[in-house]
Amino acid sequence: MTTPSAEANGNDERPVALVTGGGTGIGSACCRALAAEGFRVALHYRSSEESASKLAAELDGAFTVKADLGSTESIDALVREIKGSAGRVDVLVNNAGYNVNAPVLTMKLDDYDAVTSVARGTWYLTKMIVRRFMFRAGTGRIINISSVVGHTGNPGQIPYTMVKAALDAFTKSLAQELAGKEILVNSVAPGFIDTEMTEELPEEVRASILERIPQQRLGRPDEVADVVAFLATRGSYVNGTVLHVNGGMFGG
Ligand code: NAP
Repeated sequence: MTTPSAEANGNDERPVALVTGGGTGIGSACCRALAAEGFRVALHYRSSEESASKLAAELDGAFTVKADLGSTESIDALVREIKGSAGRVDVLVNNAGYNVNAPVLTMKLDDYDAVTSVARGTWYLTKMIVRRFMFRAGTGRIINISSVVGHTGNPGQIPYTMVKAALDAFTKSLAQELAGKEILVNSVAPGFIDTEMTEELPEEVRASILERIPQQRLGRPDEVADVVAFLATRGSYVNGTVLHVNGGMFGG
């Protein structure tokens, strides 16, 4: 599904940044930051259609694309749609993520599959974007939003922490594969950021998290987006690395 602006701006020559999960939280902040840097934003969503469309309407030339990252058919359709409406992807921000909180003994296999299927979809989407757009262009930036908990672990989040650790390994391997093509791949690993994802945490868990953060506050989505914008537009010799954005709680 595409907003009318995608059709209306078919001749737009600006570089395109595709942000997955752009309708909420950190993804929305990344869309705003990249639009401010002059990108035309392809704002991906799965279920947050209303907020995605509202944000797309605010950002000059932005358009929405829908896909469930759990489905390769859905990803193929998204790639076809971007090819038709914009014809290029210069920056890919793999921001979408999913979490279910439960200890190992009660975590259901379906929950494990739902969390890890986003990682599979991220790999597949990246492969298709590199193949269809970046490899031909001989340039590109891929920015993966991982997490501090992929490094520290976090009780009750085994599939999520596995996925985030794997995403950083994906970053390092892919950066080595694509460096010769000037396609740069990096991770941004947020600490605890004030979004709906952290709002869902019980009050006592939030309090114990705050005790672990030297800056004594949660981060803001725009503080993560700032680093994403840097990697998308500057940082031309930063490759295969993980930039931690966590108020000092972990340095890698
Ligand atoms: P959020 O608002 O829950 O964002 C998650 C996004 O992922 C949503 O926009 C959602 O899209 C998308 N998504 C989930 N499952 C999907 C699927 N199967 N297919 C396609 N899209 C899917 O949370 P957030 O805090 O902004 O998180 C953004 C990223 O930052 C995530 O990767 C998260 O793991 C990471 N992160 C967050 C924190 C934090 O403290 N908040 C810390 C470290 C890392 P729809 O809403 O459209 O379904």
